[in-house]
Formats: sequence, C-alpha cells, structure tokens
Amino acid sequence: MVDIKQLTNENLFLPDATRGAVRFVTTKQLEETGIKALVTNTLHLLIHYGADHIADLGGIKKLMNWEGMVLTDSGGFQVFSLIHSGKWKGEVHEDGAIFKSPKEGNTYELTPESAIDIQMKIGSDVMVCLDDCRKTNLTRKEAEISVERTVKWAQRCKNHFEKEYGGTKESGRFLTCVVQGANFLDLRASCAKDLSGIGFDGYNFGGFVVNEDGELVLDEMIAVIENTPEETIKYAMGVGKPEDIRKAASVGYKWFDTVLVTRNARHGTLYSSDVKGEVMRITNAKYSNDLRPIDSQCDCEVCQNHTRAYIHHLLKIGEATGMTLASIHNLRYYHRLMRDLG
Ligand SMILES: [Zn+2]
Repeated sequence: MVDIKQLTNENLFLPDATRGAVRFVTTKQLEETGIKALVTNTLHLLIHYGADHIADLGGIKKLMNWEGMVLTDSGGFQVFSLIHSGKWKGEVHEDGAIFKSPKEGNTYELTPESAIDIQMKIGSDVMVCLDDCRKTNLTRKEAEISVERTVKWAQRCKNHFEKEYGGTKESGRFLTCVVQGANFLDLRASCAKDLSGIGFDGYNFGGFVVNEDGELVLDEMIAVIENTPEETIKYAMGVGKPEDIRKAASVGYKWFDTVLVTRNARHGTLYSSDVKGEVMRITNAKYSNDLRPIDSQCDCEVCQNHTRAYIHHLLKIGEATGMTLASIHNLRYYHRLMRDLG
C-alpha cells in the first residue's frame, strides 16, 4: 500500500498513463525506472472503459498491477477544450458540462459531484476537483468568472467527498484542488486563499504554465505557494522541461507531470546530461556510429546495455522496441532529475 502522506513531501514526476498504460512501457518496466506515481486521464478511462466497469474489475491499480500512486485528473480540461473547439458536441454550463461521446454515442454529464464519483470508481489515490479551465489570454472579467466558478465547484467537490465517502480520513484518498486566475497575480492569490479556506490535501497550479514566449509563469506560481498552507501537496500541472521543473521546485513545487517525456522518447528526442541543453535528437545522422550510451551519467538498463547507434537505428526504422528503450531512458532521466532536486 502506497503511503500518500509520505509522497506529499517527495519530489515526484508523474508520467502520463492516459488510458491506463504508459505507452510502450510495461508496468514492471515502469517500476524499474524508479517512478513512484502516474497520472491517468479520467475522460479517456470513462469513454474507453467505463467507470463502473473499472470499479467492477477492482480499480485501475489492480488492472495495471501497479503498486505505486495513481493521480486522476477531473476530466474537465479535456471536456471543456473538446467542446470549445467544436470537436465534440456538448455544452459548458453553470454546473459543469454535458457532452456526447463520439466513441459510443453516450451522453455524459460532468459536474463537481460526478467528477468525484468517477475518480472514486476508477480507484485513484489522489483526486482533482473539477475546475473552470479556459483558453489563454483571458480578460480580467473572464478570469474572475473562472476563479469564482472554480472555488464554488471545489467547495461542492469537498462537500460531496465528505458526505458520500467520509473524506480523506475514512476513504484514504486525497483530494486536491486547482488554483486558477490566469496571469492576474491578485486573482491567483485570492483563488488560493479562498480554496485554502475550504481546506484541501493539495493545491495544484492550473491553467497555462508558460507565457507566449514559452517562459514559465513563475510569479503566478509563487502567488499560489504564498497563499496556501505548508505541508500540503504542491503540484505544478504540465511542468515541464527540466529547466522549468528546477525553477518551479526552487519556489516550492514538488509534483510535476508532462506528456513530453514519453512522447519525446517515441519521436527520438532523448534527455542527456552529456549534451548542451540536455536534449539529444537521436535520429540525427551523427549518432549512427556513436558507440557511447545515451547519457554517461545514467544508470538505466538502456544506457548500461545499448549504444546511441543502436537506438538511432531502431528509431530511424520505427521499431517499437526502440520506442520502449527510449521511453525507459527518458523516464529514468526524469526520476533522477527529481532525486537531484534534493
Ligand atoms: Zn539511460
């Protein structure tokens, strides 16, 4: 049984197991990289599996045979963006969203309460409240509405979690909320304060984490840290590149996730402390005869047993084994990055 309280104070990288698997990597291989937690996608599991079906099978951890921690998102981010972009039929309303799945044609309603029920059925260790997440470049008015709704929905999530499941104490699950407020420092601070007043196990930095120039929005991130209780989870959602993780960690964030680690691996972008900028395009011709490991400092099975030339060859021809090896290395690199944050 994973000790979530203990993990609250550890630097964690949560790879993306969108549909119940980290792509190209087995559960055993994932464990061997040292990774202790992963994030699954509530909407994808709901559409492709069904929350009741997963519950009947014993939950996502039993299905995956994964003994580490599982964090689930609320599903809101995907649903709202699919509806806003017109890709899915649906409507965002005062209580959440109602939408039709293009996969099986079923209609679902996502509300603060149902978001908790679905995550409980999936069997998550750390849940996320439904929040009102929006596009970039919000006007002040739009950001104010988003903060107001986010706080209101978070209160409803907490009430439902306490009433139906006995809260953290009885259920053993942790409930985190999302702090919104776009790039308005005072709104970030007031959202963080209001959510702290309700009381959660963790406070996640929501919304867009980099500005138009691709720079981390560190001031906004600090405003959230300064207005939330110590000794609670501080999760920088969607952060990010190694240098951004180091910056966010320096101001108090401990949990991170990004789809880039494994997606990059599959497309030949590998992390290595041997090269400038930490990023190596392994499919470049210059690596075709390179007999060194990907990273001379890395202790993963790939760097211990294989050369850059071999990985170059496998990924050039689109060999699945190459994607597995590249993913294992990148995951281990991020695990070592967490360890080195101190
Ligand atoms: Zn390695």
